[in-house]
Amino acid sequence: MKVIEKFLSINGEGLKSGELAVFIRFMGCNLRCPYCDTKYSYINPKYEELSIDEIVEYIKSCNVFNVTLTGGEPLLQDGIYDLIIKLSNLGYRIELETNGAIDIKKYVGIKGVVFTLDYKGPSSLMEDKMILDNYKYLGKNDVVKFVCGDINDLNRAKEIILKYHLNEITNPFLSPMYGEISLPLMVDFMKDNNLCNTRLQIQIHKIIWDKDKRGV
Ligand code: SF4
Repeated sequence: MKVIEKFLSINGEGLKSGELAVFIRFMGCNLRCPYCDTKYSYINPKYEELSIDEIVEYIKSCNVFNVTLTGGEPLLQDGIYDLIIKLSNLGYRIELETNGAIDIKKYVGIKGVVFTLDYKGPSSLMEDKMILDNYKYLGKNDVVKFVCGDINDLNRAKEIILKYHLNEITNPFLSPMYGEISLPLMVDFMKDNNLCNTRLQIQIHKIIWDKDKRGV
């Protein structure tokens, strides 16, 4: 499998934000969002080729319970299903950070698997790639993350949350595009639209470390 980086840190986002987690970042993505902060995972990517067993050994060596599989887009990676099954059998909590443009059905119901599923709004220019059918598989342990860079993204997030009842069936998060949108404006938007059971999520790794620092 093509691994861009692997490291132990705290989860910067999601329901386990602030908890220790092992991160495995895979090469490649099927989307091209202008604001992407992990372009190094698909533009001239420098990766190491690791077997499933080597990845599992690394994860075991970190001695924590949470594993985050990310990218790029991790679900494009050959062998990802077998890796997930292996981690599941070992009892890990496996967070799949996926971009919303991959059908997640194959991974639904695997013990320990939770999804952080992106919705790419208007400013991503990738909105037509979103697979909205995925929402029927989500539950209370999962997250739909709306990356918001402007008011259009916020308005679309609201539309999708209400249309698919995401604030009842799962956990919608509004995630500001770093440095692009005013945080008070996001809170005002939530108040003005009575967006309950919806969370403003700040990426805490970008507060703790430099916003471009890798491997944290
Ligand atoms: S889906 Fe994620 S990794 Fe892929 S281009 Fe968009 S922001 Fe970057």
